[in-house]
Amino acid sequence: MTVEEPSESHLDSTAEPPPETPPRAPANIPPDVPPDVPPDTYLNAQHLGLVEPSLAEVYDAIMEADREMNRAAARRADAIYTAQRVLADVGRARAEAAVQAGGRRPPWSPEEATKEEFTCEVAALLRLPRRTTETLIEASRTLAEELPATREALSSGAISYRHAQVIMDQAWGIRMGDDPVSAARARAVFEDVLVPDAEFLTVAKLADRARRVRERTHPETITARHQKSVEDRHVVFQALNDSMASLYVTGDAEKIQAAYHRTLDTALTLQGPDEERTLTQLAADVLTDVLIGGVTPDGVGTGVAAQVNVTVPVLTLLGKSEEPGYLAGYGPIDPDTARRLAAGAPSFTRLLTHPETGVVLSMGRDTYKVPAALKKWLEVRDETCTFPGCRRSAKRSDVDHSVEWQHGGETDAMNLAHLCPYHHAVKSYTRWTPRHLGDGRIEWTSPAGYRYIVEPSADMRPPKQRKPAPKPPAPVVDVWNLDPEPDDPDNPDDPSPF
Ligand SMILES: [Zn+2]
Repeated sequence: MTVEEPSESHLDSTAEPPPETPPRAPANIPPDVPPDVPPDTYLNAQHLGLVEPSLAEVYDAIMEADREMNRAAARRADAIYTAQRVLADVGRARAEAAVQAGGRRPPWSPEEATKEEFTCEVAALLRLPRRTTETLIEASRTLAEELPATREALSSGAISYRHAQVIMDQAWGIRMGDDPVSAARARAVFEDVLVPDAEFLTVAKLADRARRVRERTHPETITARHQKSVEDRHVVFQALNDSMASLYVTGDAEKIQAAYHRTLDTALTLQGPDEERTLTQLAADVLTDVLIGGVTPDGVGTGVAAQVNVTVPVLTLLGKSEEPGYLAGYGPIDPDTARRLAAGAPSFTRLLTHPETGVVLSMGRDTYKVPAALKKWLEVRDETCTFPGCRRSAKRSDVDHSVEWQHGGETDAMNLAHLCPYHHAVKSYTRWTPRHLGDGRIEWTSPAGYRYIVEPSADMRPPKQRKPAPKPPAPVVDVWNLDPEPDDPDNPDDPSPF
């Protein structure tokens, strides 16, 4: 304890009261304090000097770590570009060998198969979605071949990968017909202006500036650019907290604006003295109602209603538990919503789960029929395409025989898995290989030898097989029963059926 620290004696009520603090003497103000800074603010230079340690080294360390991340991003891009070039050569060599060997042309050429193997390899290694991976690979090539100044700034650590992305995003839009020399010249002018800016502007400000520079230097008309941009229209689903989610649509401005106004107009017609919902809430309800149950003006979608699996713990359904439900493709939802959906919303398939094991007990009477029942069972187990990292809905995927039928693969839950059309092709035409591990998990081996385990989405026992399937395999329609075994002597943990 130092002598300046207060002693506890002043807390003693019997002690003498401390003398009143004398008014601050003007002599305490250092001569260099400007007159508009009151002497008792924390900005008082004398106080700052007393309490503030030097953090210059820490700030330097923060900046150096950031620059190192930038340099690492450049090294990653270099490595991806190197692999890409090597595999392009491999693809060409395979194509030549295939031509010499003759025979049937596969749906994917050797070059294409090699390229897709590589995309999937990078996606699985970095745990990135396919589209993001394709963008990363293309960005790596662009940095190496088309934007040398941007690559140099990134390699030196002067700009971040996000800054480089802004420059690339805008540079990709620079097209000069079929004249590569003019395009290279236009990109060089573009880089000359933007790379120095990227060293001191935020990403958002750089994006504004890049757009303006591109408008000025880019000779293509806005009509031509719009025609290219419109090819990028898309829909994005984003899960949020608290049982909420967002849907984003990007497309032609006039269509999106028309959709927005129609939504608002319809919501306005629903307002009235008895309507408690706000206009904002009504608009959200109108849009989701039309999307889930509606049809397009020319009738496309008639009779098609969104179908979603909702899993509800039995005790939650009975109102005896507040354990959340589970909405396929989203995640946990609050118990009230789960109960409401399970009570009969027509667009939802209800799945009840055992309170202790979480095993799916029932799939509703209308899905009991087979083989639709087996398909539905697999849909619940997989929920999405079963390639590592792919989130394409099982509904938009094929049920694939992991070991092909012609190679002896059986129509068995442990040999069937959902694959989206793209990954179905990857499995068929490249060296990516799946293997069922028997408990719903699937192990994929990549062409480079890496192994990835894909977990099932739902904890489900295999559907019961009444008797061994005769050879050749019995038709699926007769062998599956989704009810659990009542008393399985081999499994003491087996739950009693509900
Ligand atoms: Zn997929």
